[in-house]
Amino acid sequence: MAEVKLAGITKSFGSFNAVKDVSLHFPEHTTTCLLGPSGCGKTTLLRIIAGLETPTSGTISIGDRDVTGWPARRRDIAMVFQYPVIYRGLSVFENIALPLREQKLSKQELTARVENAIGLLGLERSLKMDPERFDNGTRQRVAFARAVARRSSIILFDEPITNVDPESKFRLKQDLKKITERVRQTIIYVTHDQNEAMTLADQIVLLKDGEVLQQDAPRQIYNHPKQSFGGWFLGSPGMSFLEHPFNPAEGGRLQSDLFPFPVKIAEPESVPGSNRTALRLGIRPEHLRVLTSPEADSVQGTVLKKFRGVAGQYLVAIKLSKHLVWAKVRHEVGKSLGNTVWLRCRPEAVTVFDEHDQALKAGLIKDSPEARPNER
Ligand code: ATP
Repeated sequence: MAEVKLAGITKSFGSFNAVKDVSLHFPEHTTTCLLGPSGCGKTTLLRIIAGLETPTSGTISIGDRDVTGWPARRRDIAMVFQYPVIYRGLSVFENIALPLREQKLSKQELTARVENAIGLLGLERSLKMDPERFDNGTRQRVAFARAVARRSSIILFDEPITNVDPESKFRLKQDLKKITERVRQTIIYVTHDQNEAMTLADQIVLLKDGEVLQQDAPRQIYNHPKQSFGGWFLGSPGMSFLEHPFNPAEGGRLQSDLFPFPVKIAEPESVPGSNRTALRLGIRPEHLRVLTSPEADSVQGTVLKKFRGVAGQYLVAIKLSKHLVWAKVRHEVGKSLGNTVWLRCRPEAVTVFDEHDQALKAGLIKDSPEARPNER
């Protein structure tokens, strides 16, 4: 087992930089998801770690060894691709055992490893079938079993369940979670699906345009995105945003569509930038309470769009005076288009991004005359 470190990795294809000066640490025994939209450089990074691609600059180390110039076969890495690899004419057992045959293991050890992997992936009932006739989900199970049985120090997964039907996908995701916890290998898993990353990862590396935006535990990145992109990309849907002009000279106060009362930045002096500037408020749908009649501290809005979600939930887009926000409702509230509804939101639930799109450490608080002793 081993940790992986990348230091200053850049990869250029001609004049295009697909990966830009990336430094990352993948701790031993942990599952890291490389998450980001199509084209952000996830697969390129994975291929560089695997030794299938040479970085333009930077170094890769596994454990305490610099493996930058090493060919793939010397790196002790198993890889599972988006399209499952099945060796034609071989049984399920032999498909899993093939890479082990090169390791010159005793027959007993080889059988034990393959049977263990078969058990982990629930392939017992498929053993007598021809793997070439399997659906993509079961084929991918065979590929996972092959990777697990190798007991390499690192397993790399490149979007392994993207091409699997939705039902198998759900079961594979649950099984993968159990397997990654059991095998305790260092796992690096590429996905563009934030839900997959939230389920499987011990840590998420969020990438955009070849750069690392954030590396954190899933809950941390979800609750405290460093840029608004993270707030938008994580979540179903992600944060809604409200743009506001902001003048630090006004004591950090602002009037937002989200609140019937003025709010203020908890520490206005911490907001970087010049005198007149702009702020972006990010709010997650689950942090808005939708009401059918006005209550204290609520603001009025109109339901513009609605979608049926899971477990009897609706997702509704609500127009406030200047902004559109998404909210989740658990019952019939606001499910009709054009309905007037009222929203309640806690200022503390809002993430504030500065004019350079960096999340402020200080949050929003309700502004009250008592909080302004100098102005009374
Ligand atoms: P996807 O999920 O769509 O594969 P990704 O985040 O994995 O996206 P990469 O496949 O790493 O992205 O590609 C990153 C960028 O580098 C893309 O713009 C891609 O077109 C470009 N790229 C990747 N490989 C090559 C190559 N061999 N030659 C030229 N450009 C490449």
